[in-house]
Amino acid sequence: MKNSEQRIIDGLNEEQKDAVTAPRQNILVLAGAGTGKTRVLVSRIAYLIEHCGVDSNRILAVTFTNKAAREMRERLIGILGEYSVRRLWAYTFHTASSHILRNFADEAGLTRNFTIIDTADQLALVKRVMQDLNLPSDICVNGIRYNARNYLQEIMDEKSRGHRPGMEENCILPCFYDVYALYQARCDKSDQVDFEELILRTCELIENKPQVRKYIRLKFQEILVDEFQDTSSLQYRWLKLVSGAENLDPGRYPANVLIVGDDDQSIYGWRGAAVENMFYFQKEFAPVKLVKLVQNYRSTKAILSNANSLIKNNCKHVAEKTLVTSNTDATTVKLMSSYDSSEEAEDIARTIRKLIDNLKRDPSDIAVLYRTNAQSRMIEKALVEQGIDYNIYGGARFFDREEIKNALAYLRLIVNPEDNISFSRIVNVPSRKIGKVTLGKIEALRHEFGISMFKAAEMYAQKNKSRALQNFIELIRGFSAKVAEIPKDMNDIVCFLEHVIEDSGLGAYYREKSAMEDGDSSNDRFENIEELISDISGRDYDELSEQGADFADDVPEKGIGDLNPENTGDNMMSGDNNSEHTINDFLQIYLSSAALMPSSELLKSEESSAVNLMTIHCSKGLEFGTVFIAGFEKGLLPLERYSSMKTDQNAHIEEERRLAYVAITRARELLFLSCAEMHSSYDGQYRTGPSRFTYELDMDTIDTDMDFLDV
Ligand code: ATP
Ligand code: MG
Repeated sequence: MKNSEQRIIDGLNEEQKDAVTAPRQNILVLAGAGTGKTRVLVSRIAYLIEHCGVDSNRILAVTFTNKAAREMRERLIGILGEYSVRRLWAYTFHTASSHILRNFADEAGLTRNFTIIDTADQLALVKRVMQDLNLPSDICVNGIRYNARNYLQEIMDEKSRGHRPGMEENCILPCFYDVYALYQARCDKSDQVDFEELILRTCELIENKPQVRKYIRLKFQEILVDEFQDTSSLQYRWLKLVSGAENLDPGRYPANVLIVGDDDQSIYGWRGAAVENMFYFQKEFAPVKLVKLVQNYRSTKAILSNANSLIKNNCKHVAEKTLVTSNTDATTVKLMSSYDSSEEAEDIARTIRKLIDNLKRDPSDIAVLYRTNAQSRMIEKALVEQGIDYNIYGGARFFDREEIKNALAYLRLIVNPEDNISFSRIVNVPSRKIGKVTLGKIEALRHEFGISMFKAAEMYAQKNKSRALQNFIELIRGFSAKVAEIPKDMNDIVCFLEHVIEDSGLGAYYREKSAMEDGDSSNDRFENIEELISDISGRDYDELSEQGADFADDVPEKGIGDLNPENTGDNMMSGDNNSEHTINDFLQIYLSSAALMPSSELLKSEESSAVNLMTIHCSKGLEFGTVFIAGFEKGLLPLERYSSMKTDQNAHIEEERRLAYVAITRARELLFLSCAEMHSSYDGQYRTGPSRFTYELDMDTIDTDMDFLDV
């Protein structure tokens, strides 16, 4: 025991050790960038498992992205081995919620096969709802125009405040609560859940069902949350409920909660993140052990000094902190200036070429960060010209591509024929000559009988002898029957998917479409579908099967009411008997993970030795030897906004400054800040220049000398 404990705390500083080896209690680690917060969190999990004997499936680690969750799992496997880590819950708030809801689907008013809808589907649904309520698509109130997008945003805001239609009605959008109510009714009817709903419904489930609450309480003994500064108030409520800190059952012990965060890195204020949660945590989870870390292990002196110098211009801090380092590397931060955006991209690409060729830098340890997705196009072009491979995170999501959405819609409908959005999406793709008039009649039947589109279509086809529709229904029914089969190996799943793509006509449709398009192979739609099949079949289903089994194998046959706290950990499934899973199980888990994959995450196969391109938002928590910040200039950072509906200008600048701080602190050794004199965008060129943040940096540690690249 001693040895393994030593292994876990080896190399940690005193404050880090203090947090990692503290007795089991609530802990807040409040510290700046690169001080080892994530390392503390991971080491704490190892310590709890190895030293305190906590079962890994009693631990819930909440990360900001699914990628971070995977990395956390890998790091732990490195320390503790596969077996101990196997059943750890390391997920985002959304993924954890989707697992809880699936496991308690009945109690949550869903079926286990519920589907998760993404923003585009939500928007389509809101548009339809507005039409059905005879609302114009564009509504003017007090001289401001509102459309479906505004309604959807308001629905999400209401959900994030925990409001259901009819609870507190003070939204100014005309008929808003009718839209919200009908939107929700349609989602419920089709067994669909949107992102915010995942969290809200989990909260309500725990609040309203004492048995579920009891179960959750027994399930999670230790909860750890990374990047806590970016949790929303609804996520905070979730944390209180899942941990049992919201004391609904006196006498039952809450879980211990460790949160780590840095208020200076809070960059999701615009999406409802509330730094104040850090204050509330100290009060509402009291007593809380507070640990502060100041030693930065990531960056050189110059990088750190610029980060400190910049962030001290913000007035709003939870805690004052100045990062220190013992790093003696004297490398300065480099300022680059180019004539226009395309030259800037070329300069960056040329510099990267030199870093790789002359300084033997590993491309995968180089990142180019930018404020807006639109900036990536020119950088990509310049990298291609230099023959440099890159991975791009974010941007047009793989899952947002038309062909991928259609292929997934087929799979969703097969798994859940009640899914009306998927039905409408693909009933006529490829064309089956099922026109708008027919669809209108199906829709009318659906309303009249309160049934799904699929059932309404069945009814319509029988009555009207519509061969085309009948064929479509039989096609889907045939596949739905097949998904219940238990696959012998992955080839069965691939084979099944290929059948779906070919028999539905989607394969031929996209082969033809690709051939007609401009022949740019990176845009080949059929190849994208093949990529999807290979992604589905290439997933780590050991991990996925654990996710699916997490609760089920803890719950005795008779149901959750009879759960005995003494034997919760006894009847654990070994976790590797995939053979018991049906194609349906795999697809279901895949489909929810696909819907939950935020735009920051890449799903197409990653090149291992490629430069990383991403927005600053996506770079949170990551580190790279070399970082370029492209567009460190007026108009882009801080981003100029044309509407300031939600926050005041000062708050906006402070959030943008935190973004710049996040970007700077991603770099370990080399940091390049780049700007153009002219900015080019789709609507022409305008004069720009260095960002106002440039003047807040530590000028003594910055220069433009690039000679070191030519050694
Ligand atoms: P961020 O705020 O960006 O999320 P963080 O506080 O989570 O950063 P980590 O990513 O955990 O910081 O650590 C930053 C780097 O410092 C990592 O490379 C980590 O391995 C290293 N590190 C952390 N603690 C120590 C230590 N005690 N000794 C040496 N290196 C350390
Ligand atoms: Mg971190």
